Amino acid sequence: MRACRSNIVRTLAYLARFGARGVLLVLMAVGPVACVSVPQSLLVASDAEGAATQVWHFGGFAIVRTDSFVSGKVEENWEHTAHQNCADGPVRAQVSWVDSRISREDATEACKWVISAVQYTYSYSPETVPLREYRLDLVTGDKRHKTSRWSWTPLGTLQPRYVARWRPEESRTRADIVDLFAHESIHLLTRLRTLRKTIETEEQTAYLTGACAQLQTTGTLDKRQLRRAALVENASSELHASSAAGMRVSEMLGPIVSDDLVYLNSQNGRQITHLCTQSLTAYFKPN
Ligand SMILES: [Zn+2]
Repeated sequence: MRACRSNIVRTLAYLARFGARGVLLVLMAVGPVACVSVPQSLLVASDAEGAATQVWHFGGFAIVRTDSFVSGKVEENWEHTAHQNCADGPVRAQVSWVDSRISREDATEACKWVISAVQYTYSYSPETVPLREYRLDLVTGDKRHKTSRWSWTPLGTLQPRYVARWRPEESRTRADIVDLFAHESIHLLTRLRTLRKTIETEEQTAYLTGACAQLQTTGTLDKRQLRRAALVENASSELHASSAAGMRVSEMLGPIVSDDLVYLNSQNGRQITHLCTQSLTAYFKPN
């Protein structure tokens, strides 16, 4: 699960932050093949987003389900979709979009950002290499879009699929995409390896990895990416745990990220890199 940012409706946005176990509870409540539903009020909210990654194990099979959305006033029509593929070793990615304001060059760049975020995260767990193909749906303006995808191994390819907004500010788009795929990769890896982690530890690591991947793959970490909002009342304990984890990472990195932008080769950048290396190495030590 990942943060939803919104300058206007932050509390609403946090309703969409499905904790991994929160989603599982929803699925159990409505049936084994039910869909995760996103409230309409949230889908039409301004600038909200959310993502969730689930893994089930049955014998030698691993089944992955991803849910992701960005909110907006208008539903984007995905009938005529363009695609751009890229790959680096065993990691493949495909970017899909419909708005012609996104050029093929833009999509190629976005595709590379996906790969670099995933590669960064997987570098701490190199033995976990099922064939996988990440999907990214890019949405522009105030359009809304949501996607759900099932995939499985060993008979198929894992295809985690998420949605991100293409923003006029390219650096913000890049930071969002890297943050999203690094964060969700932590959830995927944790479940594929059946690491025994509390939801608090897993979420905190996922948030931290989102920040670490931005710094390592883009060369900078934008302070705005660390902003987290408080959770609304009456949310589930899992959502509270996830939100609290995001807040803890913000508080942990806040004093280091004193400037709006931290550079990888600055003193603060090196301090964050050290923290990232220590935390991720410890997280992926065998149970
Ligand atoms: Zn998460």
